[in-house]
Amino acid sequence: MSQPYVIGHQQPDTDTITAAIAYARLQQREGVEAIPARAGELNPETEFVLDRWDVESPTLLADASDKTLILVDHNEYSQTVEGAREAAVIEVLDHHRIGDLTTSEPITFHTEPVGSTATLIVDQYDAANEEIDSQTAGLLLSGLLSDTVIGRSPTTTEKDRAVIERLADTAGVEAEGYGKELLAEKSKLGEKSPREMVLGDFKRFEFGEYNVGIGQIETVEPEPVMAQRESVLAAMDEIVAEQEFDLLVLLVTDLLEEDSTAFVAGEQTDVIPAAFETTVSDREAFLPGVMSRKKQVVPPLEQALKS
Ligand code: MG
Ligand code: MG
Ligand code: MG
Repeated sequence: MSQPYVIGHQQPDTDTITAAIAYARLQQREGVEAIPARAGELNPETEFVLDRWDVESPTLLADASDKTLILVDHNEYSQTVEGAREAAVIEVLDHHRIGDLTTSEPITFHTEPVGSTATLIVDQYDAANEEIDSQTAGLLLSGLLSDTVIGRSPTTTEKDRAVIERLADTAGVEAEGYGKELLAEKSKLGEKSPREMVLGDFKRFEFGEYNVGIGQIETVEPEPVMAQRESVLAAMDEIVAEQEFDLLVLLVTDLLEEDSTAFVAGEQTDVIPAAFETTVSDREAFLPGVMSRKKQVVPPLEQALKS
């Protein structure tokens, strides 16, 4: 077997990157020369995290054809690195819905509906009886705090809360304070164009015959995005035309108010009111209490599109 690459989803987020690094480290301790990798550019929050813990960025893997892969933080082809269908996937660690991955050999597949992949990797360290050093704890804590919005997201479980405490202790940081630093980084839109805002944290799905894209901007300050709504909607229309999406949704999630505004584009926007028991006015819908794409947006959308 060739050296496995441990790799997360496209448009990598902090959980995807830190999970790849931490799991590759565990593999190495167990004698497997695993290589931490990434499927795209780092976002500013993740850059901040790698800087903060003084860790090198994982290798960019542009094409995974003929490689051996361990997938973290995703398991569907619409989100994998280029060439993954032609690669040998030997293991998966994930906390998302089960997608369409198929393999020719039996594989190890770890999945649990917890708040982050980091939580599952902590289990793997424990199972292997390997200690988590403070730097690795800092990385995993970052993934966990980022994915769960410091435990505020409805995806957060009791297990995640216990792991947050434990990792914060090992890393020597105060979870709430450090988590807020991450949220501030996550919220920085900087010089991003409307197109980059839509595609920054973006996932593709195939719901039956429909091609759906769901972007998310998680921010403590939604106003600058709202102020650019016309150009953001124009960028969404462009992406729909280019990539043949039937539906494109951009969630602007207010991390302090704990709700989202959805901008919509594509031919299938009619499903939005039924899916979310809301109204769409001027291509915009308010989704009270919605913070999680995987738990509160993907399931109702899929159901509405398939019925
Ligand atoms: Mg992720
Ligand atoms: Mg995750
Ligand atoms: Mg996320």
